[in-house]
Amino acid sequence: MTNVWNSTRNNSIRVSTKTAILQGLARDGGLFVCSDLGKNKLDLERFVLKNYSQMAQSILKELLPDYTESEIALAVQTAYTNTFDTKEVTPLVRAGEAYFLELFHGPTSAFKDIGLQLLPQLMSFSLQEYSDKKVMILVATSGDTGKASLEGFQNIPRIAIAVFYPKDGTSQIQQLQMTTHRANNTAVFALQGTFDDAQSQIKALFCDSTFQQRFAQMPITFSTANSINIGRLAPQIVYYFYAYMQLVKQRAITLGEEINFCIPTGNFGNALAGYYARRLGLPIHKLLIASNENHSLTDFFQTGIYDRRRTFHKTNSPSMDILISSNLERLLYDFSEHDSAYVATLMNQLDKEGFYRIKQPIVKQMQKTFYADYCSDELCKQAIREVFTRSHYVMDPHTAVAYKVMKRYQKRKESRLCVVLSTASPYKFSQTVCEALYGSVPQTDEFTRMQFLSEKTGTPIPKNLVALQKKPILHKTELTKAQLQKTVMQLTDQLLLQK
Ligand SMILES: *Cc1c(COP(=O)(O)O)cnc(C)c1O
Repeated sequence: MTNVWNSTRNNSIRVSTKTAILQGLARDGGLFVCSDLGKNKLDLERFVLKNYSQMAQSILKELLPDYTESEIALAVQTAYTNTFDTKEVTPLVRAGEAYFLELFHGPTSAFKDIGLQLLPQLMSFSLQEYSDKKVMILVATSGDTGKASLEGFQNIPRIAIAVFYPKDGTSQIQQLQMTTHRANNTAVFALQGTFDDAQSQIKALFCDSTFQQRFAQMPITFSTANSINIGRLAPQIVYYFYAYMQLVKQRAITLGEEINFCIPTGNFGNALAGYYARRLGLPIHKLLIASNENHSLTDFFQTGIYDRRRTFHKTNSPSMDILISSNLERLLYDFSEHDSAYVATLMNQLDKEGFYRIKQPIVKQMQKTFYADYCSDELCKQAIREVFTRSHYVMDPHTAVAYKVMKRYQKRKESRLCVVLSTASPYKFSQTVCEALYGSVPQTDEFTRMQFLSEKTGTPIPKNLVALQKKPILHKTELTKAQLQKTVMQLTDQLLLQK
């Protein structure tokens, strides 16, 4: 069996699942989508007795049918066995009245691990169909994707990876995680500008004709590890099902009952995975889209106007400091009934004029499934303090943004059971968390502060973060926008020369 994936901007660009994963992005700059997604609903009863890996296998088999059952099984096993610090992979934790789905138990302590432990395995299987080809992965990161991609892709044969993070745009620990990474196929660069700059430059490279021509005759494919790659998105659908089934097991809900999820959102990958879970039959009433002060998404879901012409704010939830949410394009495709010409027009307008406005009936339709709101740095810190005081649960700032948005929604709208997606360990953002809990914090280095937080709250520091203290900094190069293309060319030449 196969699935066909086409570009959001051109229905006649069609590729197989394995090719879509290998390429990451369609050659016209669109994202790969599968029009058949959700035609067959998944049978929830089947999941009741399954553990995380078993659930992942059944769901991925449906979504990525080009892969054989044994390929999927092996990929899932490699991705989730002994790589997470809990057998459950994504435990559902109750603190007071709230449910948190903890997605940060992987090797880099953020939710990106769920997709990025699996994507390289899938890509390797895709690559087996081409005996001589190599892959150059280009990653723009707002902090967490970078390290998670390095972990996922390190030392994988015939694949090299280059990560670009915004200089001064990540937390200190996030930066250290990347700059200390040692492997034989990885490169890391600080890029001048914001995450959006990094992301749009990499996207532009993919569509640049001189760049493409230079490598046209060579056995190389350029790809991405951002959530624009469906090989990363698909694994993220799994944990929505997992959370739901935990609630059924705990008798907090009955099978079939609708619940809400609240998702701290940046590039709209995580939220889109939730929407896809709903399309596949998971009983979700509403998806709550939580942003920080960079709230182009909140405005979009409230008005139907997406406008990136606004002041960029550096907030204490830096992984959501994003003005252009790439994956929204997939949602537009779905809600416009697969009208790729319409999506292409909108995206072109966003690129040229900085904004677009969608048709009112589509906005109304979206509002039936999505609710969006945002939260300031101050309220985020207040939420961290409030939940810790009341329930002794430590939230990271991204999780806290979502928690706050959920609380407000429940007060104003309806209070059915809602799961907050907890996307990072609080120890990745110890400065903010300490400030929230203890007011002023000791002016010390990152590691002393983590120790302080651990002693005060009685919670353990993830091992991978402790280990950073002893690692030398290996990647120190800083690039201007103008240098990016040349750097990628050099790295690609090196990869091609390798045996
Ligand atoms: C990446 C990230 C987000 C945003 O997720 P998207 O899929 O880009 O919407 C939220 N929180 C944390 C901690 C992240 O690393």
